Amino acid sequence: MDYYDIVIIGSGPAGMGCAFTIIKEKPSLKILILDKNKYSTGGMRNDCKMNFTYPIGFPLDYWEKDVANSYLEEVTEFFQPNILDKKNIERYQKRATRLGCELLEIKQTHLGTDGGLQLIKDLLKRLDENGVELALDEEMLSIDAESHAISTSKRCLNYGKILIAPGRQGFQFLQNVMKSLDVPYIDNIVDIGVRVETKVDHYPIVKDYYDPKFYFPEKVRTFCTNSGRAHVVKEKYVTSRGDDWYSVNGHAYSTTNKEQQSDLVNFAILKTVKLTAPLASGQQYAENLGVNAYQLGGGKPLMQRVGDFRMGSRSKEATFNEDPYNFEPSLKGCCPSDISLAMPAKVLRAIWKAMKNLDTIVPGVLHPSTIMYYPEIKLYANKPTYLDDHFKVAEDIYFAGDGAGTSRGITGAWASGIRAARGMIQ
Ligand SMILES: Cc1cc2nc3c(=O)[nH]c(=O)nc-3n(C[C@H](O)[C@H](O)[C@H](O)COP(=O)(O)OP(=O)(O)OC[C@H]3O[C@@H](n4cnc5c(N)ncnc54)[C@H](O)[C@@H]3O)c2cc1C
Repeated sequence: MDYYDIVIIGSGPAGMGCAFTIIKEKPSLKILILDKNKYSTGGMRNDCKMNFTYPIGFPLDYWEKDVANSYLEEVTEFFQPNILDKKNIERYQKRATRLGCELLEIKQTHLGTDGGLQLIKDLLKRLDENGVELALDEEMLSIDAESHAISTSKRCLNYGKILIAPGRQGFQFLQNVMKSLDVPYIDNIVDIGVRVETKVDHYPIVKDYYDPKFYFPEKVRTFCTNSGRAHVVKEKYVTSRGDDWYSVNGHAYSTTNKEQQSDLVNFAILKTVKLTAPLASGQQYAENLGVNAYQLGGGKPLMQRVGDFRMGSRSKEATFNEDPYNFEPSLKGCCPSDISLAMPAKVLRAIWKAMKNLDTIVPGVLHPSTIMYYPEIKLYANKPTYLDDHFKVAEDIYFAGDGAGTSRGITGAWASGIRAARGMIQ
């Protein structure tokens, strides 16, 4: 059977952060990175805007400010980011504060989906030059902690230490691993909301601040803003019962070429929901909402113009073809609908209130042509019981990244990979 000192499951930023730390600090160790996809590397393929300011991307349960900042320094040192300029921040901040809202000032860089791919190529080359083996199209299936062995879709192999970092899409897989290892966990938090798409002229703040992070009352926030060559996309999920559902998302290509730029911007507006008994599973709750929306939309995500929403009527095909204010939705194949039929009242009320606040801070965003796509759901919150500060869950077994609840973004995932690596080589 093949043996590796270190096996890393998942070639996303968490897995990469771990691999780069180990080759720097213990270069003699034999490392294997395994990824079920035919290509590397996880969520860095999407948009790749990186945030370098606490607490963005760092769940407070695991990251105190000082600890996160020291890891962020290492991430910054590694990536040497070109931080984007921001303008007129105080003006927006003043307006926000007056309404009881907050605009965070975050150090950001944006590589774009294409820039992210180039970065990944460079990172893989460096790993290869340092003797790290990368096995793509190979899925980890199960683990036997006693014999330090895992089985994959292609073989069985032994590990000295293992990091499991399967990302958000590995949420269910990670739960299966935790059950097999008897690792206690909860997953009671979920973010639910809409993706908003409008013309840049209706949300001009993005010319001053690429991804403005607004915090509103009732645990609502803006998230993942994209402009330039921006698109809304859909991601398919399958429930544990085998039902399909979609969550929408967004990304943008890098471009300085004005001709390639669209005049659209998209961003998510999400509410965090924390469940308690008897249904304490964010995943089950999210799946039910996702399936409900999928059925209502005839197997498609839902979309509604703000103008229709205000009038309490559903959007129709005609709303997307004939209205003089129209712009074409960047995500084709959604169902014109009434999102209030699908969204829980408490979530919808809080999000609409936040959007009205946002429209006061950045007047124009609630233009009648603005589109709300539903659902956008983030399942971050597997919360395993960790045995130490390095995300150890059992002897020689570590978790990191978004699927394990230790991060919510590229830089946080990378930092959590470094932190796990330090535990693995201690
Ligand atoms: C459309 C989109 C846009 C985004 N934009 C941004 C952004 O601009 N900025 C930002 O900070 N964050 C963004 N994110 C979030 C970001 O991608 C994640 O926070 C980050 O990638 C998490 O890193 P990770 O290493 O935990 O997981 P991932 O990057 O998801 O990597 C996990 C890897 O594990 C592999 N895997 C899963 N299960 C197994 C298994 N059983 N066996 C082997 N391999 C397995 C997966 O194939 C995957 O490659 C975006 C996400 C999406 C979906």
